Amino acid sequence: MATWQCVKQCGACCHLDPADRPDLDEYLSPTDLELYLSLVGDDGWCINFDRQTRECRIYDDRPLFCRVEAATFEAMYGIEPDELNGFAIDCCRQQIEGVYGDRSLEMLRFDGAVGIG
Ligand code: SF4
Ligand code: SF4
Repeated sequence: MATWQCVKQCGACCHLDPADRPDLDEYLSPTDLELYLSLVGDDGWCINFDRQTRECRIYDDRPLFCRVEAATFEAMYGIEPDELNGFAIDCCRQQIEGVYGDRSLEMLRFDGAVGIG
């Protein structure tokens, strides 16, 4: 079975452009939505994302909505803990496809790491 993990030097989910996420207000509280929008840079990437290293500059202090954790996903999306694995894999693949492409190196690396294909 495929098992979700975050792949280093990806960062696709740090591309926050609200134009690509029209339903943000359905799963973020007004406070979190405000925080989210305050992080969006002119180029659509999070202002905390280091484009060179592809790492979060505030990783230990990143917002809750950046964390793939059972409690967070349950609160935001109504996902039960036993559904988290499959849901997180789908989320990552969707985000990677949108940012880097369906046949990108990032997608290949992700699929390889989680055990798809
Ligand atoms: S899209 Fe997934 S694999 Fe890529 S950085 Fe985000 S959590 Fe990690
Ligand atoms: S705060 Fe960090 S983890 Fe969250 S979107 Fe920005 S760079 Fe990515």
